[in-house]
Amino acid sequence: MTTPLEILKTIYGYDAFRHNQDAVIETLCLGKDALCLMPTGGGKSLCYQIPALVRKGTGIVVSPLIALMQDQVNALKLLGIKADFINSSQNITTQNQVKQRLQNGQLDILYVAPERLLMPQTLDLLATCEISLFAIDEAHCVSQWGHDFRPEYQKLFILHQRFPTIPRIALTATADKRTRAEIIEQLDLANAKQFINSFDRPNIKYTITDGDNAKVRLLDFINTYHPNEAGIIYCLSRKKTEAIADWLNTKGRRALPYHAGLPVEERNNNQETFLRDSSTIIVATIAFGMGIDKPDVRFVAHLTLPKSIEAYYQETGRAGRDGLPSNAWMAYSLQDVIMLRQMIEESSGNELYKRITKQKLEAMLSLCDCYTCRRQIILNYFDEYVPDKCNNCDVCIEPPQMQDATIASQKILSCAYRTGQRFGSSYLIDVLLGKETDRILNNNHHNISTFNIGLEHSSIEWKHIVRQLIVSGYLKTDNEGYGGLQLTKQSKSILIGKQKVLIRQFKKNKLKSKQHNKHSYTNNNEKKSNLFEHLRKIRFTMAKKENVPAYRIFPDKTLEAMSHFKPDSLTKMSKISGVGDKKLHSYGKIFIDAIQTFQIKKETKSTSTSTPDFLG
Ligand code: ADP
Ligand code: ZN
Repeated sequence: MTTPLEILKTIYGYDAFRHNQDAVIETLCLGKDALCLMPTGGGKSLCYQIPALVRKGTGIVVSPLIALMQDQVNALKLLGIKADFINSSQNITTQNQVKQRLQNGQLDILYVAPERLLMPQTLDLLATCEISLFAIDEAHCVSQWGHDFRPEYQKLFILHQRFPTIPRIALTATADKRTRAEIIEQLDLANAKQFINSFDRPNIKYTITDGDNAKVRLLDFINTYHPNEAGIIYCLSRKKTEAIADWLNTKGRRALPYHAGLPVEERNNNQETFLRDSSTIIVATIAFGMGIDKPDVRFVAHLTLPKSIEAYYQETGRAGRDGLPSNAWMAYSLQDVIMLRQMIEESSGNELYKRITKQKLEAMLSLCDCYTCRRQIILNYFDEYVPDKCNNCDVCIEPPQMQDATIASQKILSCAYRTGQRFGSSYLIDVLLGKETDRILNNNHHNISTFNIGLEHSSIEWKHIVRQLIVSGYLKTDNEGYGGLQLTKQSKSILIGKQKVLIRQFKKNKLKSKQHNKHSYTNNNEKKSNLFEHLRKIRFTMAKKENVPAYRIFPDKTLEAMSHFKPDSLTKMSKISGVGDKKLHSYGKIFIDAIQTFQIKKETKSTSTSTPDFLG
């Protein structure tokens, strides 16, 4: 039997597993269930593709986006893997052919949407086939609190009932504790082995500014740092996506809108152009992006405030999947904040839903308003503690002015403690400000030692301090969603004076514009060699011929390795990361020739220019 490592080397052309891919793969190969959290670009697909190749039968991949299945399947075919998909975009004949191949055991991997999978006839069909595993991709779609909620996902527990002996793996790149618990509960994965990787995306630089003059600053940002690179710009409304795309086109950038209101054909064409081209900008509502695995998106810009840190992280995570330096840039306005709050209030959800969505928005606002490393805050939100600041976010690069708030923090923490860790910020602030409200009197909290000891700050300033304490993990909201503030393990260090608390200085206008630091932004263009650009052109021609996006031939990283090592034989070419057997066979010679022609041209050029004029 071929081992996972051999498959990694021969089919994918990679040397070693990343993160804990090997452990996940081993779990599935042993027939056990797994839950795998890995950042975008981390390499989740291999975690189910390789076991599907090792085990007997077909691996069934549940994926929410049928628009991308064709592309995913094409990519696998380029690697020589027998893959296909079944969805409503195919005619009945094609669907029947795929079913036949499935039944004949001629498929390694089959992609299906959850709705299709849950149909009784599909389940019956699967019962007659040999299935190696079920992979549930984008598993956070089960979460009814999440931004990508898909009700059908909640019915997928049925897989376990119908196929109890077939291993299942749920995968996602975004899941806070609550979502994680939901995935386990809803998909009946209590016995699954959990693989939680670091969520960090070190190659993405985070910048968050206010919305003053956002449009002009956006243009300045993309023209300066991404003059001919692909990116995504998120806007709140459909109208705005079209207006911004038009405007960018008048400024000489190729930009296309994308939103759920566009005719299907136009929407698909725009997505297709974006996927295939490496310099198109897509201006979209959040309807765009899930499952988009274009690796060379160099920036994600937000002209609107995401509803939660999960949403922000997922959207910005679409930048730099290839691991190369990328930017996440955002400009948001107070208007966005007001609008989102209103939307929550007016939503048809129940009280619990509203409370939780509100808390998620507050956490997002804390990130916008923070004074410590943004990456630390984001990772902390996903329960990942990072000791050092990142030096790759706007706060690290240009730290805001600070003031000491240790004593104020001690007051608020002790107030939360003395009132039983059950109350939200407004109540605690009222106690500190000595307000004799009915609730405070009823609870007898006008008699505790923290009553009326906080007059040095206004209620708004206290809110700011509380928010900062939540952001840095010294206070947390209760798990029931009531908003009661509780102390954390770290709080003690502040209470006993071991830990100082610094906060951003209070300003009249907290959302005042900050100039971005020009030189710290990522600009990949200077670094790229001429040979790399030459190979890109060859790749473009190949991609056109094969009718696939360019990165499906070889990702940028592989072309960079080729232009660095300049392999001149198939053996040397096979050593380049990302060149597996099938691609070596299909494209190896073409790229070796391209490298050689380029070298010869370069030499002729340099000898001809080095010939002194007087000899000519
Ligand atoms: P995810 O689904 O987690 O966002 P992918 O599975 O699409 O990520 O992988 C991202 C990129 O990393 C792909 O180009 C993939 O081929 C590559 N990759 C995955 N695993 C490895 C590995 N072990 N070594 C090198 N590259 C890898
Ligand atoms: Zn930082």
